[in-house]
Amino acid sequence: MHRQASTLIIIAVALLVGLLPRPVSVQAASTNFFPQTGFAIQDPHFLDYFNKRGGVRTFGYPVSREFTFLGFPVQIFQRAVMQRYPDGHVQLLNLLDPGLFPYTQVNGAIFPGVDIALIQTAPPVDSPDYSEAVFHWISRVAPDSWNGIPVAFHQSFLNTVPAQVALPSGQKNLALLAGFDLEVWGVPTSPPTYDPHNKKFVYQRFQRGILHYDATTHTTQGILLADYFKDVLMGENLPPDLLAQARTSPYFGQYDPQKPQWVARPNALPNTDLTRAFESEAPIIVLDPGHGGAEIGASYTFSDGTVLKEKDLNLAVANQTAMLLRQAGYTVVQTRTTDSWVDRNLSDPLADDLQARVDIANNAHATLFLSIHFNGYDDPSVRGTTVYYDADRPFSERSLHFAQLLDQQATAALANIGYQTLNRGVQTDSMAVGLGNHFYVLGPDAVRPIQMPSALVEGLFVTNPQDAQRLRDPRTLHALAEAYARAIELYYGG
Ligand SMILES: [Zn+2]
Repeated sequence: MHRQASTLIIIAVALLVGLLPRPVSVQAASTNFFPQTGFAIQDPHFLDYFNKRGGVRTFGYPVSREFTFLGFPVQIFQRAVMQRYPDGHVQLLNLLDPGLFPYTQVNGAIFPGVDIALIQTAPPVDSPDYSEAVFHWISRVAPDSWNGIPVAFHQSFLNTVPAQVALPSGQKNLALLAGFDLEVWGVPTSPPTYDPHNKKFVYQRFQRGILHYDATTHTTQGILLADYFKDVLMGENLPPDLLAQARTSPYFGQYDPQKPQWVARPNALPNTDLTRAFESEAPIIVLDPGHGGAEIGASYTFSDGTVLKEKDLNLAVANQTAMLLRQAGYTVVQTRTTDSWVDRNLSDPLADDLQARVDIANNAHATLFLSIHFNGYDDPSVRGTTVYYDADRPFSERSLHFAQLLDQQATAALANIGYQTLNRGVQTDSMAVGLGNHFYVLGPDAVRPIQMPSALVEGLFVTNPQDAQRLRDPRTLHALAEAYARAIELYYGG
């Protein structure tokens, strides 16, 4: 960075590094993107639950973004709907309890309905030995062999969450494991039942899913019912039998981009925000080469008269990073590709130029924003690599994770080409511009703040003779471009 703020930055950093709590090292908040469906698991609580309960095998792929449903953050997967409570703990919606998805005819299949008489034989939840009694009851009502048919419902229930996934430390706590299986399925709400149209199919209904035995393939698996719940919300792709039953549901066809919060009939669906819930989350990366045009950023004049300008270095690195990411299949948007301001109205204040960069990212519905800079300071002995993020955004945990990847990759890439940079590490933007203050492009105080995880890299100091000498070498810029591209790929789990 930059202009008038540079002195302040260094002083603030020097003063505050020792005084402020270091950024907390959170559990890797990696964004797992699934190209199979075009959605990602972004929330660390959802991701942790997903990973510890069997992943894709248990839940299928995500088929929505996170959104607010009846007052709670939720994410729909093919087989289940995850719901997060304010304390962070995750539960699955009882999809098949009356109300949400009571349907029994889906795409030609006829599922059993809820069998009240069966449920009444279950042990009462408040009984003292409930956990033992309920598993005993499940083993009776969800058999492995039924009418001489190897339906394997009990084994399928018990094998839902594999031990090595749920309990990686190697402990064998079968009761705990069975508890995880119960979390995923809930209790049986019907006995095994033939499909009346097809005796080759046997179903058993649980609170949160339906097990399906197919005699033609001798396989037992869960039906992807939550995927159909998404179709009900969208009012699209519904098979005719489901459409006929779901038309009168309060959830039917609620997804409407033309309405506030994208909810067609908010009276029927309170405390719900469907904004972009089912729009693909395929990564869209915005690269923002800092400065441009008359704004040269930091600079260094060599003894031969050559002037190294930050704005040119930023653009060169951004162009190379963009090329590498596009080769890897990512969609990349740049705030500028020429030596110019982003906001072409030169009479506007500088804040407008920064806002124009944020607007490009927000309007592109970007999933990640990287502002590319090199540092500058009055004292030429100051050198090194810094990555900033803003700690006061809803997605700050993910920004921090991104910033950590950038810092690791940048310092390693420089070491690889034989340059030991001074690693100043990951810092909050408030450590640079003062407590309570923020970088315009990262922080919450912009007129229209940035809406996605973001970071600002300061690769090296243009004003330091040693760093500047390296920056004159195209290999240094290329190494940094590779590092930034790799950090972005790692951020997406690649
Ligand atoms: Zn800068």
